[in-house]
Amino acid sequence: MQKEYDVIILGGGLAGLTLSMQLKRSNPEISILVLEKRSSTADEATHKVGESTVELGTHYIREVLDLKNYLDAEQLPKHGLRFFFTPEHKDDIARRVELGPRKLLPIPSHQLDRGTFENELISRTKKLGTEVLLGAKVTNVVIDENAKHTVDFEHNKQTIQTESRWVVDATGRSSFLKRKFNLAKTVDHPANAAWFRVKGEIDIDNWSENKEWSTYVEPGLRRLSTIHLMDKGYWVWFIPLSSGNTSVGIVADPKHHAFETFNKFDRAMDWLKANEPNAFACLDKKREDVLDFKIMKHYSHSSEKLYSTERWAITGESGVFLDPFYSPGTDFIALNNTFISDLILRDKLGEDINLRTNVFERTHFALFNNWVPIYKDMYGLWGKTQSMVVKIFWDWATYWGVPTLLFTNEGYTNIGVLRSLFSKEGSTGQKFGLLNTQMQKVLLEWDEHDDATFTDQYIDPFDIQYLKDFHKGIDDKFSARELVKKVEDNVGLLEEIASELFRLMSHKIYGTSMNIKVDPYTMSLKNKPKEVENGVLASDSIKSDVNTMWYY
Ligand SMILES: Cc1cc2nc3c(=O)[nH]c(=O)nc-3n(C[C@H](O)[C@H](O)[C@H](O)COP(=O)(O)OP(=O)(O)OC[C@H]3O[C@@H](n4cnc5c(N)ncnc54)[C@H](O)[C@@H]3O)c2cc1C
Repeated sequence: MQKEYDVIILGGGLAGLTLSMQLKRSNPEISILVLEKRSSTADEATHKVGESTVELGTHYIREVLDLKNYLDAEQLPKHGLRFFFTPEHKDDIARRVELGPRKLLPIPSHQLDRGTFENELISRTKKLGTEVLLGAKVTNVVIDENAKHTVDFEHNKQTIQTESRWVVDATGRSSFLKRKFNLAKTVDHPANAAWFRVKGEIDIDNWSENKEWSTYVEPGLRRLSTIHLMDKGYWVWFIPLSSGNTSVGIVADPKHHAFETFNKFDRAMDWLKANEPNAFACLDKKREDVLDFKIMKHYSHSSEKLYSTERWAITGESGVFLDPFYSPGTDFIALNNTFISDLILRDKLGEDINLRTNVFERTHFALFNNWVPIYKDMYGLWGKTQSMVVKIFWDWATYWGVPTLLFTNEGYTNIGVLRSLFSKEGSTGQKFGLLNTQMQKVLLEWDEHDDATFTDQYIDPFDIQYLKDFHKGIDDKFSARELVKKVEDNVGLLEEIASELFRLMSHKIYGTSMNIKVDPYTMSLKNKPKEVENGVLASDSIKSDVNTMWYY
């Protein structure tokens, strides 16, 4: 071990290990020490969540870290996120409205066995020259803005002190620096989770005898999706793992389902019996095969600060976490690590990083704050079929059309792009945030009017042309100028989509015309809407797409 390093990373989980690889791949000269308190390699099906990846995080691990060959060979391909609504028919999965892709997806994502994946990351980052010390528990950090920082840790019953120019906290829920600097910030989204792993595969194709239903999806693909079984206030996940095991989780808002009703294994089974009888029937036969059980109360949390000009930073769950509904944990790690790598690498070259530190922090929190309305107070809608089809398609359009596209085109570390999109009052980035908040408000207002039961339907996101285009567009490469223009165009399309959805809802509630112009930034269903002079209409293709997802 050296006496000092360029970077010491506290915690060798997903965030810390991927950061070390990202840094080493960009500059092999940089010296890094990862201190991980776990004393041995992780077990298969280790006791961790963060198994299902989506497009932004997948791009990070496949392309930025160049792990695509490993992922294709050793981990499972994922067949998108899949949702089952129609709680009125919970005892017959084939009658529930199902949303998910039918055919193999052009843009990949994965189901990760976190234990085997973290072991692989340790071996790869060591090969790149990172020192990883297992059984090393960090006990103290002293930040010195003018000189080297000192880090104390316990290893083999000894206390060791070492120094570094940078310290990055990747200690997950232990949140080492956040606690030390008193930076913890609560997020007013009090949902809770419980999860466990069972030995063996679970294929929900076997939950129904209905032959026609099993043909909706290409053979073998349904099982590879992240399954969401939904009703008011909760969702239940099923995730297949490469070890041949299956991860199962319950996530619920305490306004609708008290945590005490599922926070122990037997209680969770009773809860499943009452709420998801198909899932219960399958798991009840596997009680002997349960490998673990874990809970997390009020999992959402935030931080006052993530990146400091005093050369420390926070990444992964140690910093912020919002909600696992769309599997975005790895996305936040990708974004965090990309900002932190940029700062460390530029600092190593002697660049002044003050401006970048502030811009990155503002950008990260702007994105986090834009995503809060997607989940906060929304779990009440989880049992509504029409609302959820519209919401999920809306949330995906915003996710693929703006943040994912910016990430795959390296827009988040391009100060020119960030300035053009976010800095001015009324900028495209600000409009994007306002538009999303307004759409989520409208969905809440629409809730009481969404009163029909829909059954026996299948909807594929790729039946919707604009979603297909947004999704495929993730891989398109743009210059900085083109990227800004593309994001502006996508926000323009989102305005049209929002306006058309609003017209359909308003027509159903108030009988208003399907031709009224709408201001998507102020639209509201509280009172009968009036035409807005310079409002937005939708093109014929958007109208046709929106009609495809509208069941009334
Ligand atoms: C219910 C739920 C479901 C989720 N599902 C998904 C999903 O499907 N997809 C997804 O992308 N994300 C998901 N997430 C988020 C995901 O779990 C996290 O993004 C991810 O696990 C965070 O990784 P990390 O490296 O920050 O933390 P961890 O993986 O917890 O790593 C932190 C490491 O730091 C070490 N450590 C702690 N303290 C010390 C210390 N003092 N000294 C040394 N080492 C220390 C620990 O041993 C650990 O190895 C989910 C989260 C929740 C709550």
